[in-house]
Amino acid sequence: MKILIINCGSSSLKFQLIDSESEKVLAKGLCERIGIDGGMLNYQPEGKDKIVKNVEMADHTVAVQLVIDSLVDEKDGVIKGLDEIGAVGHRIVHGGEKFAEATIINDEVIKAIEECNDLAPLHNPANLIGIRSCQKIMPKVPMVAVFDTAFHQTMPKKAYLYGIPYEYYKKYKIRRYGFHGTSHSYVSKRTAEILGKDYNNMNIIVCHLGNGASISAVKNGKCVDTSMGLTPLEGLIMGTRSGDLDPAILEFLCQKEKLSISEVLNVLNKKSGVLGLSEISSDFRDIGKEADAGNDQAKTTLEAYSYRVAKYIGAYVAALNGVDAIAFTAGVGENDGSRREAICEYLGYLGIELDKEKNGKRGEELVISKPDSKVKVLVVPTNEELAIARETAKLVK
Ligand code: AMP
Repeated sequence: MKILIINCGSSSLKFQLIDSESEKVLAKGLCERIGIDGGMLNYQPEGKDKIVKNVEMADHTVAVQLVIDSLVDEKDGVIKGLDEIGAVGHRIVHGGEKFAEATIINDEVIKAIEECNDLAPLHNPANLIGIRSCQKIMPKVPMVAVFDTAFHQTMPKKAYLYGIPYEYYKKYKIRRYGFHGTSHSYVSKRTAEILGKDYNNMNIIVCHLGNGASISAVKNGKCVDTSMGLTPLEGLIMGTRSGDLDPAILEFLCQKEKLSISEVLNVLNKKSGVLGLSEISSDFRDIGKEADAGNDQAKTTLEAYSYRVAKYIGAYVAALNGVDAIAFTAGVGENDGSRREAICEYLGYLGIELDKEKNGKRGEELVISKPDSKVKVLVVPTNEELAIARETAKLVK
């Protein structure tokens, strides 16, 4: 079956067409600046060059139609007609407490996703627009919602409750939800497969270190804790997000800088993290270059980043009562050997020994610890689209 994967933002739409049997990506692309002047469609059919078209897209329905037109195009298309698309898998950011698994989309599911809008006001409404646009253009094609939060729904109460009055949990469902769940699920399963171990009988820590970053503790195939919270702002120091901080800093900054709460939150989401700390860039390659050239602020930024990751690993070793494998994934986790090495330097107490040569490789699925390392360390490139395609195929069959 050919499955169209849709990841819809407020003004963008990422897509991939995946053959669920061969698991090959037949085409992929991105619509940018939907509803804004200067729209752009990037389309890449398998084995061919990328095609970039400047085309205005008044709304997401127009964008979905353009995607379909590209996929069925006589010259650059990869399918003959719309009827070859067997299902659509939608990435949905927040499923609240309602969705612990992917689900076939119907009116009731749409309503339940709408009810989670409060929890992800920037993402869920955009995801819903993507669903509705696809339904308009492909009314007979089954659609599946795959949630970023679903994998983390197995967390016990002690891990997901915040130390605030319980009534706020009851009234507003304020709790830890966690994100990047599709990635944590895919990478933890793959880790067990690579090691030839039983996923349901091992402890894994997954470090998803991209522009957004989160870490999860997976016990016997179930997530028991994760670093992102009610929103994706909590936890690790990220590209532009602060991660954990003393909540009193918010009021302090409001007063000193004469900012509103939402302005401070904007600083914490968009101007903090390694960008804010380094005053260089949110990209680790830029910061790494400066650090190598002797820039102390760049060095300290990278140290603070690695230290935070190592602290979380320590906490999750305790939560799991021991760990069998630690997996690195996403942009930094897959490509930045220096970061992995700096993080693992804190983990000698676990009997971890890195194979420096293997750790020097980039973007490959690889065990990077030495054969006699007590805890195995791996690089496992994430593949959220493939994971969404698998979930979709499972439900639509
Ligand atoms: P992601 O959000 O998973 O796409 O990760 C994006 C981030 O990965 C970028 O902002 C970079 O900081 C980082 N990244 C990508 N390639 C490299 C690399 N070769 N070395 C260090 N960091 C990298």
